[in-house]
Amino acid sequence: MTQFMGELTLYRPGTAGYEDARKAWNLSVNHHPAWIVVAQTAHDVSEAVRAAAAEGLGVAVQSTGHGTIRPADEGAALIITSALKDITVDPELQRAWVGAGLKWGEVVAHTQNYGLTPLFGSSPTVGVVGYTLGGGMGWFGRKYGLATDSVVRLEVVDAQGDILSVSADEYPDLFWALRGGGGAFGVVTGMEIQLYPVQTVYGGNLLYPIEMAADVYRFYREWIKTLPDEFTSSIVLMNFPPLPQVPEFLRGKSALMVRGAYVGAEEQGVAYIQPWLEWRAPMANMFQTLPVSEMRAISNDPVDPMPSATNGTYLRELSDDAIDTIIRYGLGQGGQPPLVFAEVRHMGGAISRVSADANAYSHRDETLNLVMIGVAPTPEAGQFFQQYTAKFMQELGAARSEAVYANFLDGEEAQRRIRAAYTAAKFERLTAIKAQYDPQNRFGYAFQIPVK
Ligand SMILES: Cc1cc2nc3c(=O)[nH]c(=O)nc-3n(C[C@H](O)[C@H](O)[C@H](O)COP(=O)(O)OP(=O)(O)OC[C@H]3O[C@@H](n4cnc5c(N)ncnc54)[C@H](O)[C@@H]3O)c2cc1C
Repeated sequence: MTQFMGELTLYRPGTAGYEDARKAWNLSVNHHPAWIVVAQTAHDVSEAVRAAAAEGLGVAVQSTGHGTIRPADEGAALIITSALKDITVDPELQRAWVGAGLKWGEVVAHTQNYGLTPLFGSSPTVGVVGYTLGGGMGWFGRKYGLATDSVVRLEVVDAQGDILSVSADEYPDLFWALRGGGGAFGVVTGMEIQLYPVQTVYGGNLLYPIEMAADVYRFYREWIKTLPDEFTSSIVLMNFPPLPQVPEFLRGKSALMVRGAYVGAEEQGVAYIQPWLEWRAPMANMFQTLPVSEMRAISNDPVDPMPSATNGTYLRELSDDAIDTIIRYGLGQGGQPPLVFAEVRHMGGAISRVSADANAYSHRDETLNLVMIGVAPTPEAGQFFQQYTAKFMQELGAARSEAVYANFLDGEEAQRRIRAAYTAAKFERLTAIKAQYDPQNRFGYAFQIPVK
């Protein structure tokens, strides 16, 4: 039976609402909480946190289910934030207030009416808050920094169920921790973010045959040294699925894609791509002027729910040995590759110029970020993916950094390796702030920050 508690509707196991609400975008995630609330307001979130505390339950939070760290079990209440869709834009201050249920595509569609853009990522269906609390690295990264660095204020429900306004002036320690430290300190119900005056970019992909992979990586390694901060790029080894919607010449095949976005005049963007065209003609050059609202075409991430698996690491360098390892593992070592793609993103620029103490996000000096994505329709496939990518990373040897980007981990891997997302000093500070704001680890389904 659906249960009502005050103004809240709790979905317990066995109700139709429960089955619908516990679904995640990542179909390999299986939430099974004691009950679920689909919050309509910050007040609902507050009530739900208090109700969970009264029953001795932990609190798990989901907006879209793109980045579940620890699925909600019977010891947790699951708060769904997806209905918190309020959005307002202040064109004078170039800021937006965005509710925690919004996805980036929805925010961009709105802010573009003002000629402004937020710092979104590759996928339009990723949620604004999960992305931002983990860092938030997108195609404007080198020009304007991480999404987390552009947060002005957060509305947060704390472990007592109190609704706090959190900013540089109010609860500054909590403000510091949430930006990079994720959802371990409270439930964010909305945030005020800085926007930027960009309406178009010169962006897209160059497609090269897989036989040229080693040369393409080496050319990329030199090319990015010539780029200004206005150009954020990546290089992707893609294993195209044998599906009818994939063009026939790529169906079931592998290829190299050099992708990115230049913030500036088209002629200048063309000039930055020109060295590639002069070096070797690509199979396709899909770079073009794109409205910001069409930038989803650059990565063309899957929108429909799928059973995905993620792993990642920063790279110190794209050495010849690292290139060889990426190609071998990317292609499956002679067998069926468990990776859909392996992408190396170029960071640095504005990301590395923010003061190291600004917030919990660490490792601003890392400039190359490897992310590996697979499809995991069964738990065994998920385990195989993790073992395979662990071996892949091990074989990267000295080219691999010990550090990791929190947003490119999920599931058990995120629970195991989250410490590596922070410097030792920042992790220590996070545990102290955790002890202050969530001493009973109510929010223990987010990044695993222990109570000091
Ligand atoms: C297809 C795809 C593309 C991606 N592209 C990028 C990219 O370009 N750049 C990048 O940096 N990352 C990227 N990511 C990673 C993504 O940013 C993280 O997985 C992020 O956590 C997703 O947030 P979500 O709210 O959509 O997911 P959810 O699974 O709903 O949330 C993930 C976690 O975030 C926390 N959280 C979410 N909402 C709240 C809240 N309101 N209050 C407190 N905690 C909350 C919770 O701990 C939750 O478990 C991508 C992921 C996918 C699957």
